[in-house]
Amino acid sequence: MQHIRYQNSAMQVEEIAISDLASRYPTPFYCYSANAFRQQYRRFANAFADFPALICYALKVNSNQAILKILAAEGAGADVVSQGELRRALAAGIPAGKIVFSGVAKTAAEIEFALQQGIHCFNVESESELYQISQVAEQTNNTAAISLRINPDVDAGTHAKISTGKSENKFGIPWKLALQTYQLAASLPGIKVTGIDMHIGSQISKISAFDQSIARLVDLIAQLRELDINIQHIDFGGGLAIPYTAEDIDEQTLLAEYAAVISRYASQLNCQLIFEPGRFIAGNAGVLVTKVIYVKPVQQKTFLIVDAAMNDLIRPTLYDAWHHVAPVIEPQTDAPTTVVDVVGPVCETGDYLALDRSMPKVAAGELLVLHSAGAYGAVAASTYNSRPLIAEVLVDGNREHLIRPSPSYQQLIDLDSVPDWL
Ligand SMILES: *Cc1c(COP(=O)(O)O)cnc(C)c1O
Repeated sequence: MQHIRYQNSAMQVEEIAISDLASRYPTPFYCYSANAFRQQYRRFANAFADFPALICYALKVNSNQAILKILAAEGAGADVVSQGELRRALAAGIPAGKIVFSGVAKTAAEIEFALQQGIHCFNVESESELYQISQVAEQTNNTAAISLRINPDVDAGTHAKISTGKSENKFGIPWKLALQTYQLAASLPGIKVTGIDMHIGSQISKISAFDQSIARLVDLIAQLRELDINIQHIDFGGGLAIPYTAEDIDEQTLLAEYAAVISRYASQLNCQLIFEPGRFIAGNAGVLVTKVIYVKPVQQKTFLIVDAAMNDLIRPTLYDAWHHVAPVIEPQTDAPTTVVDVVGPVCETGDYLALDRSMPKVAAGELLVLHSAGAYGAVAASTYNSRPLIAEVLVDGNREHLIRPSPSYQQLIDLDSVPDWL
């Protein structure tokens, strides 16, 4: 987290103090470090520099156009899961030939649009989808490059809501049905089989789960080649974990272990390697800046009531996620602490950002940051309780830019349309 740290007792993003940003942009807002994005992308890409690799950043974690521009300039491709994301990637200048399209529910309209653009590959998740792609491709005189997303039935050892590679999850084609589904794909008009794909979950630190899953795919590649179905790329999905606390995972070690597993298989494969990292690139490149509105002690504990809420950052409520909370002004090391719940203004008991945290005493009006909010933060926000989506600010060295303004209340209201008979 070298780009976001205390400098002379004030939290800075690169060269700009967060308290200065907060004097220019009303809280709450997201703030990202451009160089943290670049650094993470490069670390990941360098780990596979010896192979023909395509890094398809998973747009769903943070799809702001400015962020995509940064990654496009680094040479990134994109993993998209909707027409909206595909359009965002193209708008930011990511070439269609570097885009893979994932997701269980691609519609005929989405397939047609993606075919027109000439994307690299569809990651197909069911037989019905294969028939649909074949039909659209034939009708529009196109050929669709496809890979099958294989569900290897491996426990990724992660939170139930972000585990995707078990047989009971809705994702992918059961690995036992892979050969027959590939044979079907090879027989369909308008389809060209080019690859094989997996994505077993997110925030995975159990390297053996990747190892086991990849072993299944590699085994399938050999069997497919015997059937004259020539697999030209293997897509490992995303899912690599990041540290959310200082004591947590050592990210560099984890990346090295992950790369070692992949290299062991890849050296014999003679395939393009595709990766779909999301959280790894974005997670620790952003913070959520919020202000304490009230301090409310009750008998059992103290609530820090802040101006950010579950609608701005849903991860604690949805996934029991842990975000490190820190004051923007660095506390003295011997400052007395209290145990607090950091909660928002939304009228839901589930509206909390952090529970049971031992923190130095803070007063109303003080600024806090929630760390590791660069992935699955702004993209998953809603306007629940008629709270406008919050701003996003990008810092790049000593430069800053409001990369998404917060809409006004009037703009929020104007999204509705009242029929003239009322
Ligand atoms: C969510 C997702 C990713 C990114 O996962 P991370 O854990 O953020 O790296 C990649 N591929 C697919 C298909 C996804 O659904």
